[in-house]
Amino acid sequence: MTARSLSDVEYNYKLINDRIAEAALKSGRKREDITLLAATKTVEPEIINYAISLGLDHIGENKVQELLSKYDSYDLNNCSLQFIGHLQTNKVRQIVDKVDLIQSVDSVKLANEISKQSLKRSKTTEVLVEVNIGREENKSGVMPEELENLLCQISNFEGIKVKGLMAIPPICDNKQKISQFFNNMHNIFIDISQKKLDNISMTTLSMGMSADYYEAILEGATMVRVGSALFGKRNYT
Ligand SMILES: *Cc1c(COP(=O)(O)O)cnc(C)c1O
Repeated sequence: MTARSLSDVEYNYKLINDRIAEAALKSGRKREDITLLAATKTVEPEIINYAISLGLDHIGENKVQELLSKYDSYDLNNCSLQFIGHLQTNKVRQIVDKVDLIQSVDSVKLANEISKQSLKRSKTTEVLVEVNIGREENKSGVMPEELENLLCQISNFEGIKVKGLMAIPPICDNKQKISQFFNNMHNIFIDISQKKLDNISMTTLSMGMSADYYEAILEGATMVRVGSALFGKRNYT
């Protein structure tokens, strides 16, 4: 529990905010231009709510079951709850009324189901399209060359609103290589923005995690998803 003591979370939260501010400044932006989303998998709601009390205003879960079991305990009055993991089409209906945004849309089928389930509940769900920037087999996300086609196919779905892109680059320790993936992702983001596709807005570029959020911001991320650097090492039991 030590790594997750409240004072550690408070310390980490301040440190991460300072580093975000520094990277934002270095990339010609302000702290407010970057959203910190806390990846809360395996973290107890008490700890999550403590971080929210410090000012954290975006959290993300990556498993449907875990989100559902913790849902009633989150203090979401001033905090957006998002879904950041791989989402199976048949589970969409379980979370669509609970989340503000789904970051991991990578197929027409999934987008269609989110739209359909949202309309049933008279809501529009914001989504990001996940791009498989490392072209890794068995990894979620649409291939970069298929992105525009996917966006065009889902742009007229009335129950969703596309707000941007998300990516998880391949795991590697080489900061230069990672930065290159982030840079490629930013170029794709800018390219798509400039095409001004109907009903598609490109305001959010979600990339960068505990090990590399600083580099991601330098390359143009507008949202970083940070877990272990905030809450401590995860304990999978
Ligand atoms: C867990 C997770 C993160 C954060 O990972 P850390 O390395 O702990 O910061 C970010 N994005 C997704 C989709 C995750 O599942």
